[in-house]
Amino acid sequence: MDDIADYFPLMIIVLVLGTSFWVFIDANKIGVKAGQLSGLKGMGPAGWLFSCLLLWIIAFPYYLAVREQLKFAQPRCLECGGVVNEGARKCVHCGSIVERMFDVCCPACGEKGQLRESRMSDEIECPACKRVFPAAAAKV
Ligand SMILES: [Zn+2]
Ligand SMILES: [Zn+2]
Repeated sequence: MDDIADYFPLMIIVLVLGTSFWVFIDANKIGVKAGQLSGLKGMGPAGWLFSCLLLWIIAFPYYLAVREQLKFAQPRCLECGGVVNEGARKCVHCGSIVERMFDVCCPACGEKGQLRESRMSDEIECPACKRVFPAAAAKV
């Protein structure tokens, strides 16, 4: 006797395996690396895969919830948006020079912003108070 209910356990196994491997592939694609975030979010792709296989009901929704954070924790190419390795000087996707971004803070009014590495030797104008000062002076 074939009953549709007999297939439910199989369907669940297929669903868990399928989505767990999707997490693994997706985590690799968006460049998730172990230790990039603190706590559970700091798992690498293999860690996510095993968490999903063992505790799918918790790990899978959790992955979806923190996916954007994982994505933005990676250094990215300013030109094409591709993930680049920490400390890489050239984008592997489009070949443009990867510049580090520095946090800057206006010495006059305290306005915070970010500046490309190549502009750190320039004079910059604060977008808030319009004062002009050497970018190096604003580095935090
Ligand atoms: Zn690029
Ligand atoms: Zn200012």
